[in-house]
Amino acid sequence: YFSDYMTHPYILSVCTLGRRKSVAPQELNKTNKRVSCVGKPPDMQNKRGKFGEPSRPNQKFYDMIQDFRETLEVTPLSTTDHIEARRICVCVRKRPLNNKEITKKEIDVVSIPGNGALLVHEPKQKVDLTKYLDNQVFRFDYAFDETSTNDLVYKFTAKPLVQSIFDGAMATCFAYGQTGSGKTHTMGGDFAGRQQNSAKGIYALAAQDVFTYINHRRYANMDLSAYVSFFEIYNGKVYDLLNKKAKLRVLEDDRQQVQVVGLEEVYVSTAEEVIKMIQMGSACRTSGQTSANANSSRSHAILQIVLRRNERSSTLHGKFSLVDLAGNERGTDVSSNDRSTLVETAEINRSLLALKECIRSLGKNSDHIPFRMSTLTKVLRDSFIGEKSRTCMIAMVSPGMTSCEYTMNTLRYADRYKFLYVELKVEL
Ligand code: ADP
Ligand code: MG
Repeated sequence: YFSDYMTHPYILSVCTLGRRKSVAPQELNKTNKRVSCVGKPPDMQNKRGKFGEPSRPNQKFYDMIQDFRETLEVTPLSTTDHIEARRICVCVRKRPLNNKEITKKEIDVVSIPGNGALLVHEPKQKVDLTKYLDNQVFRFDYAFDETSTNDLVYKFTAKPLVQSIFDGAMATCFAYGQTGSGKTHTMGGDFAGRQQNSAKGIYALAAQDVFTYINHRRYANMDLSAYVSFFEIYNGKVYDLLNKKAKLRVLEDDRQQVQVVGLEEVYVSTAEEVIKMIQMGSACRTSGQTSANANSSRSHAILQIVLRRNERSSTLHGKFSLVDLAGNERGTDVSSNDRSTLVETAEINRSLLALKECIRSLGKNSDHIPFRMSTLTKVLRDSFIGEKSRTCMIAMVSPGMTSCEYTMNTLRYADRYKFLYVELKVEL
């Protein structure tokens, strides 16, 4: 479909790094490029005639996007697609427009044609008021469109990591994105009405597989037990979600081992028990919040599934940390004068930046891991070191035109990981 961009009648130019330049279609496959697309000639724009008023606030953009989509060849991801084992995996998931957005006739500006590609059709206007689309292409290991279920997302992202912890890995899976983009839906389970269906999130799906593997003959002789902890990091402080939000201290010993002192670690023997813990913890996370103080969007929630060997005084065998990150939108919100909001914003930015730096170090096999930059990276320290570290980042995006700027920020952040991965692959 990339070659379609070249033959599309409304494409006038292809911009590379801000310079106008013609690009061969095969080059478009390699890196992110911009494909500009201007509006139709005036006679075609008025195809509804003089009396047919556009039915949406941005009808022209809507039409342009629809026209563009008609030229896309779509190859949807299927459950039978091959899953490659990767040390660092970066994916993107687009949620559907919600009822509120549909009522407001919000325009969907994100397309996922397949093969890990994602397009943002950014509506723009020239100085002479001509409307045009700035179509930007991003590539990821996997891109999940709005019809993807949590099951499908799980299969390509966290599932391979569950297997890795049985082989002794320290694995992490992050849900990153703007508030409302679907992080909690993906990790904690979908919302049927007001109730969250905890059995249908990546947390629970991972737990189910943990018990499948524990009982599997391949791992049975290892004599492993599973434990769960669930905590929240808000403003750099750790709160135990399995113990009434008790505030916990993070300590580092002289061997740089990091400990969350007093963190509840519950022995679990079935997936149902884990689901109960998830429900308990999630309820604890959101309790006492008013809508004006919905700090679940400003905190990171971390569910850890730890495997320990029963003999030899419960040695740690492997660990899977599943992280529902704080909303990343605050970074661009500089309008607030409220001190506590500013402090919160600074803390979230610092931790997301630290995370990026730590994963970058992991990708480079670097000895220096800047984990002290934030509480988030401190508590995840052992996941960034060693041969057996595995990580997966799922960037969530909202489809609406009004979220376009946030969506671009999310994609740019995740894009960094992708390049890092490309680098890594070349090194290997
Ligand atoms: P976040 O945790 O990123 O702030 P949520 O997970 O709470 O966002 O999602 C916001 C709303 O959008 C919720 O009502 C959720 O049910 C809905 N939603 C998110 N992702 C999807 C999806 N893939 N399919 C359907 N609804 C979704
Ligand atoms: Mg959330």
